[in-house]
Amino acid sequence: MITPAARRRTAGARLPLRSGLEGLEPYGAPQLDVPVLLNVNENPYPPSQAVVEDIADAVAKAAGGLNRYPDRDFAELRAELAEYLRVESGVTLSAGEIWAANGSNEVMLHLLQAYGGPGRAALSFAPTYSMYPEYARDTITEWITGRREEDFTLDVTHALDQIAAHRPSVILLASPNNPTGTALPLETVESIADAARDGGPIGPDGAPTAAVVVVDEAYGEFRRDGTPSALTLLERHPHLAVARTMSKAFGMAGLRLGYLAAAPALIDHLRIVRLPYHLSAVTQAAALAALRHREELMQQVASLREERDGLVTWLRDRGLRVADSDANFVLFGVFPHRDQVWNGLLERGVLVREVGPAGWLRASVGTPEETAAFKAALEEVLGS
Ligand SMILES: *Cc1c(COP(=O)(O)O)cnc(C)c1O
Repeated sequence: MITPAARRRTAGARLPLRSGLEGLEPYGAPQLDVPVLLNVNENPYPPSQAVVEDIADAVAKAAGGLNRYPDRDFAELRAELAEYLRVESGVTLSAGEIWAANGSNEVMLHLLQAYGGPGRAALSFAPTYSMYPEYARDTITEWITGRREEDFTLDVTHALDQIAAHRPSVILLASPNNPTGTALPLETVESIADAARDGGPIGPDGAPTAAVVVVDEAYGEFRRDGTPSALTLLERHPHLAVARTMSKAFGMAGLRLGYLAAAPALIDHLRIVRLPYHLSAVTQAAALAALRHREELMQQVASLREERDGLVTWLRDRGLRVADSDANFVLFGVFPHRDQVWNGLLERGVLVREVGPAGWLRASVGTPEETAAFKAALEEVLGS
């Protein structure tokens, strides 16, 4: 990718890379060209022809106005996202309680930009999403990792100890968690939110501030019946933010649209740190068009959830350990040499992800055909 000419041009200058970034690789799963891609938790179904046409029309319309900057506050999109959450979770929110950006990764970076910084700490509990420490690094925020238990649950006493010890300004809780698939009980989130209310940094006046609690529900739509969303807690917790994305259940990873719900005062803080016009007119138009088809897309989620439950059972029937999954992937193991299993699957055209605690592998839920290919490949690899 880098031509000799480009190398010559840049030779001789020592670029002033910030200390701590030396030798680091950009984050990202390997993108290999194999028939069955089960490694990044995408929705396996491309948008239907009707969705494609609607998006194309909306983008064509937006294109006619691209000489102008887009709506900075994307009011219409925020209202539609609020409406989507009302239908999906039964929680009524106003457009002013919604924030959005180019993927929920950017939404969470905004949170760290507003509430992190030198002298401040962000707290999470591992194993969890490997991007979190990068938000902290990029905002010069100290990164603190507590632990999850052997079964990937969160011990509330341990969590409250960590809050008391570090007074973080941001607490990141993925639920359902990646890479484990496990959701946190609402009582756990509530206990943490209660402790966080005055568990944050000490303010200039000597009084404690809150730690902002972020519940990352990137996989929220895949939760099993009876697993409630943390959206139901927003009413009582002004320092809570619930992040969602159109990348996973909604099947729009390529669109780059993530969002969160929180109190308007919190969202006002995020508006300070966002770049002007960060959501392009094309993104806004495409997202609005996709949201008009929410019913069709939500039906697909129902079948992916069934596929997921079937896969968990199938793996357990083969004597494997599988973490309970409220997501569109399963974490399974435990293999003495997981790299060999990963490689064996890859040789058979199935790409899964080698992440999480030693010995475990993560596979996304694909189409029934992809699941069948995964099962066949795994049986061969395990010789059963
Ligand atoms: C996939 C994922 C996201 C969403 O990323 P986008 O930037 O919205 O594509 C957020 N959190 C977790 C834990 C994820 O796995």
